[in-house]
Amino acid sequence: MNSVADRLYTIRFKVDEKSHLVIDDQQTCLACKTKECTHFCPADVYDWHEDEKMTSVAFENCIECGTCRIGCPEHNISWVYPKGGHGITYKFG
Ligand code: SF4
Ligand code: SF4
Repeated sequence: MNSVADRLYTIRFKVDEKSHLVIDDQQTCLACKTKECTHFCPADVYDWHEDEKMTSVAFENCIECGTCRIGCPEHNISWVYPKGGHGITYKFG
């Protein structure tokens, strides 16, 4: 069975310079107890930085699964499809 890393390797990215994922309010993240975004994202886009008290967004790794549209318990992530021609291309499937 291929690992997730192996499968992600089959995806091509064309990275936009502007993030299509935005944390609306970092204070909400600070108060968030579960930091679920750091668990549900299959591409490890979200990371909580305790020293800076903020959630970082590695948007260039996003595989556009859409989970964060519904996964954040505070509805604190704004999500749009990358603008035309950017984002991912699935090579197989
Ligand atoms: S789950 Fe939502 S509110 Fe909590 S840290 Fe992640 S983005 Fe912020
Ligand atoms: S759409 Fe999916 S892959 Fe992209 S940031 Fe949200 S959970 Fe992660």
